[in-house]
Amino acid sequence: MIDAGMDVVRLNTSHGVIEQHQRTVALVRECAETRDRPIGVLMDLGGPKLRTGPTEGGRPLNLVPGQVIRLTPGLVDGTEELLTVDYPSLLEDVQPGDPVLLDDGHIELQVDSTTDDAVVCSIVHGGVLAPNKGVAFPKSNLTMPALTPRDLEAIRAGVECGVDLFAMSFVRTPEDVDKARIAVHRAGADIPIVAKIERRQAIENLDDIIGESDGVMVARGDLGIDLPPEEVPIQQRRIVASAARNKVPVITATQMLESMVNAPRPTRAEASDVANAVWELADAVMLSAETAIGRFPVQTVEMMDRIIRRAEANMPEGSAVAAPHSPDDHSYVIALAARTIVDADPNLRAIVSFTRSGYSAHLMSKAYPGVPIYGVSPDPSVVRRLALARSVIPVYGDHIVDVDELLAAVDELLIEKGYVSPGHEVLVTGSLPMGIEGTTNFLKLHRVREMMDDGHDEA
Ligand code: PEP
Repeated sequence: MIDAGMDVVRLNTSHGVIEQHQRTVALVRECAETRDRPIGVLMDLGGPKLRTGPTEGGRPLNLVPGQVIRLTPGLVDGTEELLTVDYPSLLEDVQPGDPVLLDDGHIELQVDSTTDDAVVCSIVHGGVLAPNKGVAFPKSNLTMPALTPRDLEAIRAGVECGVDLFAMSFVRTPEDVDKARIAVHRAGADIPIVAKIERRQAIENLDDIIGESDGVMVARGDLGIDLPPEEVPIQQRRIVASAARNKVPVITATQMLESMVNAPRPTRAEASDVANAVWELADAVMLSAETAIGRFPVQTVEMMDRIIRRAEANMPEGSAVAAPHSPDDHSYVIALAARTIVDADPNLRAIVSFTRSGYSAHLMSKAYPGVPIYGVSPDPSVVRRLALARSVIPVYGDHIVDVDELLAAVDELLIEKGYVSPGHEVLVTGSLPMGIEGTTNFLKLHRVREMMDDGHDEA
């Protein structure tokens, strides 16, 4: 999958055991190293996802429309009449008339009343329900903790094995993101947090949540349960636009090439969905079941890579509108200047952004300059995180303090990797004095030169 074009690996801690995910991180690191490719690892914290309980003898339940079923927070062997939902405040938090969606919304119930020990529901849309399926209460205000004990365990394990990013599920408020950040700090690290937008409450607090996050995911699977399907494309656009304004990366996720779970080719609608996400300015497009349990994981990544490349080569005119800058945001001013220069000079092939923390390369990406951005950093975890940013090709480079050395490094690193050839013109940005975070203030037009064996350039 790395060879086919994968840049970031997501580990979904809703599934499997934590030790298994730690082993996967080690495997990703090993494969990435042998290929000399910086691959980011994003650990996804499952969050407070509600599930139904076990069923009698593990059998599937046949829920028939018009019949009544009671939901209880207590643990029972589920039948067609009584079923566990693993939420202690169930009886307090739902109201008559509230809808209840089971198994990704395939089955719908409606709350009729609440008794001392159960919520009584009518079955609106029936179906066959297996044990331990997802439950959603799209109209109820649930009072669940933002992080479960399992999330805290995953955070500690993720920090221990050095994941590059965390994703937080079922975020409702900016305070939820703060809680995750505090937990990551307590575990001894400062790892960026991607907020997954999949709740109606998150949509209501969208800008505040994104303002508090280091990245955002349009988690269309659960979002399409909390909201009607026709709302999902509208909210997708809002989320991507808010990420652009807040200058953080955005991942468009779920069912992108879903039919490839079982087939070697996608549907035409899926190909269009991936291309539209590219045109809408997503930083990343994500695969889930396609690569987790699908029959064609490598072909799916190859297909997605092909669709992305064709879409990027055919960006609609004027689509990449950069966010306005605030007067003291010099790093972003430089990014906008770089975009203007690239627009004015078609000979400029690329931007080379020397970035210690990754901040300036992320900002450069958010200016959408329309050429590759080589994000060069001496910090391996920064390099891997940059794999998420649109148009950024992360490059590991030594810490450099001198301008001449820096330009020589541009020539050497980029020619060696085959990214540019002698004679190509590039735009180099960085900070002077070198190595101080968040102060990009330097922009140079540079013609790539061949290095001689003695380390001097040919000029
Ligand atoms: C989603 O709901 O779209 C999503 C990404 O969630 P999960 O982590 O359950 O795949």
